[in-house]
Amino acid sequence: MNCKNCGAPMRPAGGGEYFTCDHCTSFHFPERTADGVRSAGEPSELECPVCRAGLVVGYIRRHRVQACPKCQGVLVGPGSLSLLVDELRARHSGPRLPPAPLAPPEQERRLQCPRCRAAMDLHPYYGPGRVLIDTCGPCALVWLDRGEIATIARS
Ligand SMILES: [Zn+2]
Ligand SMILES: [Zn+2]
Ligand SMILES: [Zn+2]
Repeated sequence: MNCKNCGAPMRPAGGGEYFTCDHCTSFHFPERTADGVRSAGEPSELECPVCRAGLVVGYIRRHRVQACPKCQGVLVGPGSLSLLVDELRARHSGPRLPPAPLAPPEQERRLQCPRCRAAMDLHPYYGPGRVLIDTCGPCALVWLDRGEIATIARS
C-alpha cells in the first residue's frame, strides 16, 4: 500500500500490526477482519474462487495473504498456513474452544483454484479446529472461508 501522506510505498511493521512509511515516518493501522486480516489495499492478480471478486493483498500479522473483500475468505500461500496457525495459537490468550465435531459441508462445493483453474481438494484440517479447507496441491494454495482461521487459532 502507499502512504496517504506522501505516496511512498509503506511496509508492514510491528509484526504486521500496522504499516509504516519510511519516507515521512507516518503510520497506518488498517482495520482487521474477523480472521485478523489487515488489507494492504493492493489488488492481487487472482480472483476469489467463491464469489469471483478480485482478491486484495493483506497481512495476518507478518504473513502475506490474499483476501476477498466481498466474502472475506482468505487465500494462503505455500507453507504459510502451518506457520500462521502456530503463531496465532501461541498468541491466543482467550478461552480455547472445545474441539467441535466436523460439520458436513453445506453443499457439494467444488472450488476452482484461482491460479491454475483445476478443481481444488476439500480436506479436513487435522488438529483441533476441525474445519474443511480447500487446497490446490500443485499450487500449494489453501483457501479458508471467513471465520475459519479464527476457528483454527482458537481451538
Ligand atoms: Zn509517507
Ligand atoms: Zn469472495
Ligand atoms: Zn492450482
